[in-house]
Amino acid sequence: MIVALHVATGAAAGAASGSRVAATLLGPILHLAGDRLPHQDIGSRRFETSSGLASLFLLAARRGPLDPATLGAGASSAPDLEHVLPFLRPGGHKLFHGRRGWHRSGRFPTDLQLLLAGMILGALVAPRNRAV
Ligand SMILES: [Zn+2]
Repeated sequence: MIVALHVATGAAAGAASGSRVAATLLGPILHLAGDRLPHQDIGSRRFETSSGLASLFLLAARRGPLDPATLGAGASSAPDLEHVLPFLRPGGHKLFHGRRGWHRSGRFPTDLQLLLAGMILGALVAPRNRAV
């Protein structure tokens, strides 16, 4: 699943939980659940990295780096770091995306994933000007 949507779903879960601990613990589980949905992936590592980082920075800037949404976003996208950081693959084996893995390729198109990520992130960083 594309990184931006991992970031967005982690942020949404974190915001909903309202708890930093819950957000951090839920993140990797959400990552596995997301990758488990049969989905298409974006082949460009540069796009994946930059869109993921941009989403994270946006959340941190608008909600604060320690907001549950920001922490959830980081925790949920962190498993994809093993694609780019070799020291996260002990013995060369990926923990979250290995052979035993959860990862499923399928029909969930990348443009829909991007759209969803944008909608979720947009809602989470929108100015909160309504009294709740
Ligand atoms: Zn993944």
